[in-house]
Amino acid sequence: MLILLLIATSFPGCREKEKKATETAMCLDTIVTVTCYADTQEKADKAAKAAISEVQRIELLLSAYIETSDIYQINQNAATTPVKVSDETVSVLSKALDFCEKTSGAFDITIKPLVELWNIKAENPQVPTDEQIGAARDKVDYKSVVIEDGYVRFLKEGMKIDLGGAAKGYAADKVFEVLKKHGIKNALIDLGGNIYAMGRSESDAPWKIGLQDPDKERGEHFYVMELSDKTCVTSGSYERYFEKDGKIYHHIIDPETGYPADGNLLSVSVSGDSSFEADMLSTAIFVMGTEEFEKIKSNFNYDKYVVVTNNNGTSNHAVYEKQ
Ligand code: AMP
Ligand code: MG
Repeated sequence: MLILLLIATSFPGCREKEKKATETAMCLDTIVTVTCYADTQEKADKAAKAAISEVQRIELLLSAYIETSDIYQINQNAATTPVKVSDETVSVLSKALDFCEKTSGAFDITIKPLVELWNIKAENPQVPTDEQIGAARDKVDYKSVVIEDGYVRFLKEGMKIDLGGAAKGYAADKVFEVLKKHGIKNALIDLGGNIYAMGRSESDAPWKIGLQDPDKERGEHFYVMELSDKTCVTSGSYERYFEKDGKIYHHIIDPETGYPADGNLLSVSVSGDSSFEADMLSTAIFVMGTEEFEKIKSNFNYDKYVVVTNNNGTSNHAVYEKQ
């Protein structure tokens, strides 16, 4: 979970007659906040509630922790018996697998055996042995997920899917659609820093989203993204990690090594139209590094990305435009 900061623009602007509604919930392992604006309070309230319901619906479908979810069922059974899943799950998994392929496996939705082994969120996390990492790494292989006629199966024992690097983005896109159906033009969808900014802010300008400076106190930003009907998603090593013998072990794993990605990146923020794609991209660029990614960037849909690098203790940021 990464915080993004809404830069307040304090003049009241010309939309002061608009009504505003905000709803918040814990969902998809993060704090979800949706604020929307409409001409009546009833319309704003209804849309904000529908937005939260949509995220809850997606969580019930894609969470790896809820026993009735498609992903949970796949993880339990797909190595022995093909698991029938919903059309929506087929669509999400197919797109995600296609993305894995395009990143040559830097992004891999079957990362879960390694995520479980590292268990970053444990009270007292430990660095696994090379043997343990090797064994878990063998089970991480997106090419061994087969989807056929609405059924999902794994070709290897012990495989497990983890959509932690994609589901929040997917949900942000779906909420955007739900709000549009409710006639909302201006809204801010925030899934733990995974942002979709609809229309314009209260001051009737593009939304201004500050990117958290990884080196500074929460709330200090180093760059401002201006968004209007656009998403911005950040992946960073500085919020979910543990430290052992002076080394940082964070939550974004390089499937090739089985260790947390150890380039010089501290954070990657991607903006664009699809939050699903931007979510996967921010994680993938974090694993690959900018040099590798720049070689294959034409295969992806985004506007730009901003990285913070750490070079021997000195932080810098760089902006990479798509064109
Ligand atoms: P994000 O915060 O969007 O970068 O996603 C990080 C989350 O995605 C982690 O907490 C894991 O659940 C999952 N993850 C970690 N490494 C990878 C990877 N190489 N490919 C896909 N998902 C990953
Ligand atoms: Mg991501």
